[in-house]
Amino acid sequence: MTRVYPSAYEDADSQPFWAALGEGRLDMPRCDDCGRHLFYPRAVCTACGSERLTWVTARGRATVHSFTTIHQRDGGSYVIALVDLAEGPRMITEIIGENAGEVAIGAEVVLDVTGDPPRPFFRLAGPAQGRDA
Ligand SMILES: [Zn+2]
Repeated sequence: MTRVYPSAYEDADSQPFWAALGEGRLDMPRCDDCGRHLFYPRAVCTACGSERLTWVTARGRATVHSFTTIHQRDGGSYVIALVDLAEGPRMITEIIGENAGEVAIGAEVVLDVTGDPPRPFFRLAGPAQGRDA
């Protein structure tokens, strides 16, 4: 089954986000006054109201806060997750990779910008959590 993703919504506040994805990066604004990272991209800091924001590149590391597995009629499945970025913001994403089904709450994941147009997916960072080595 072919996956269909929502169209990219690009405006003045999100244009740098989409441009960075086109270059394989996940960028987001960081507040110059309080240091908070903002995702999704906005024009004003949600913590202190400052409009002094600078675009920075995320490290591409995150921890799974929660997830759900979508089972499709054709037998396929995919994993949608809420992940907490190392920079602080929580974002919704899809966990990709052959071992995506082994995802667990608390698992470490790494950014993988892929697709056309490019989108920020994540992959499990290492061996499944809680498994004996
Ligand atoms: Zn702020």
